[in-house]
Amino acid sequence: MFSSLRTRLWLSYALQIILALGLVFLLLLFSLLRSPLLYRGTLERMNLAAEVAVTRYADLPDNANPQAVIARMAESLQVRLAVLSADGEILFDSQAGAAAFRKINLTLQPQNPPRLPLVRDSKGRRWLYTSRPLPGTDDHLVVLVPMPSLIHMSTLTDDLLAPFLRVGIAALLLSLGVAWLVARGVADPLQEMVKAAQAFPDETPTPVSERGPQEVREVIQAFNAMAERVQASQQAQREFVANVSHELKTPLTSIQGFAQAILDGTADDPQTLQQAASIIRAESARMYRMVLDLLDLARMDAGIARFEMRDLDLRAILKNVLEKLAPQSAAAGVRFIFQMEAVPPLRGDGDRLSQVFTNLIENALKHTPAGGAVTIAGQLQDGFVQVTVQDTGEGIPPEALPHIFERFYRADAARQGGERQAAGLGLAIAHDIVRAHGGKISVQSAVGQGSTFIVHLPLAPPDATTLISKSKR
Ligand code: ADP
Repeated sequence: MFSSLRTRLWLSYALQIILALGLVFLLLLFSLLRSPLLYRGTLERMNLAAEVAVTRYADLPDNANPQAVIARMAESLQVRLAVLSADGEILFDSQAGAAAFRKINLTLQPQNPPRLPLVRDSKGRRWLYTSRPLPGTDDHLVVLVPMPSLIHMSTLTDDLLAPFLRVGIAALLLSLGVAWLVARGVADPLQEMVKAAQAFPDETPTPVSERGPQEVREVIQAFNAMAERVQASQQAQREFVANVSHELKTPLTSIQGFAQAILDGTADDPQTLQQAASIIRAESARMYRMVLDLLDLARMDAGIARFEMRDLDLRAILKNVLEKLAPQSAAAGVRFIFQMEAVPPLRGDGDRLSQVFTNLIENALKHTPAGGAVTIAGQLQDGFVQVTVQDTGEGIPPEALPHIFERFYRADAARQGGERQAAGLGLAIAHDIVRAHGGKISVQSAVGQGSTFIVHLPLAPPDATTLISKSKR
């Protein structure tokens, strides 16, 4: 019930208002109670009564009984009147039957005094009083009025409480409006985000408009960025599945066709049979390689690919790769140039790095016409080993460069129709392996002049956790 932002905001405002007003009210009350201002009416009435009584007393004829007159005056003025001797003794009290007074201090001046002139009777009741010298005597006339009780004081209820209540109610209403506005500024964009998140991924999410306070804007920005990444990743996934299906379909169709030919006897002579069987074998081998590559990528994506990290002699690894590929280079009529500086041992997985350089050098051989050269150079640079594989081949078109490391991407797909057609996974795997080593791979190329692949490898990869998180991205 109180969980909505609007209600909570308003409740907190209301609580603050009530607390603040209550505190101010109490403070005011406290200082008022101690101030004579509150009793001004009573004090004035007392003073007036004193003046009247003293004037009348002065005008008394000689034969009058002063005490009887004072008693009558007390009755008509509705006050208690007492006569005090100079030494403070009570000579007369208009309410002699009521509780008597203790000592009355006549030095307290009742006109706007800093302290209230108060006296208690023997029962503890408090009386306000004022005194006047009685003309022609040493005595004093004292006018007493019971101290008004708080509940009967209109000053408190009318002058203090009522305005406080009015201001309080107005402030509460105002705070309701402000809380509503503030909550709307925060809750509305959040609500919009909730709707967008709930509709996801059935509907393509339109970005939530950025509004509200800074913090809310930041949440919206983060949400929009996340939605964009999720979309991109979904798109990539869809493309990936489509690519895998497409890549598998071609060899499967050809396997199916040749198997059918064997079965229904279309391929009946031994030579055709032999040809069909070898095509089936080559196609299934290609599929097998592709599935292995996909598994490899999936493991690196999931961060569960095993990397056997050792101190490696990169120069030896590269030499090995070159020796292994020597027959291919001879067949292609492309020569290798090897320029490797001495570099310190590098921490990495030897088999995986061999795979990277084999792929790069094989690609270079594939795309370089006879008579060309593939240069493999290595050097140390700011704690990184930089290996470049440069060819003098056909180069890569600029529009293909940004996609070269994507899965299934083939820059020259149209031309690659042969039986040994590759799936376009080699560079994607190389990229992931290099990243898992904490390094990076890049390419520079100019059509007609050749391509250069640059691999940066740190001598020691940062640490295992970074590797996994990096390889997950
Ligand atoms: P593939 O298995 O098709 O070789 P890769 O991922 O290794 O896949 O390479 C992706 C694409 O990049 C290739 O199809 C090719 O078009 C292009 N490519 C890679 N290396 C070179 C190179 N040295 N020269 C020109 N093009 C290259």
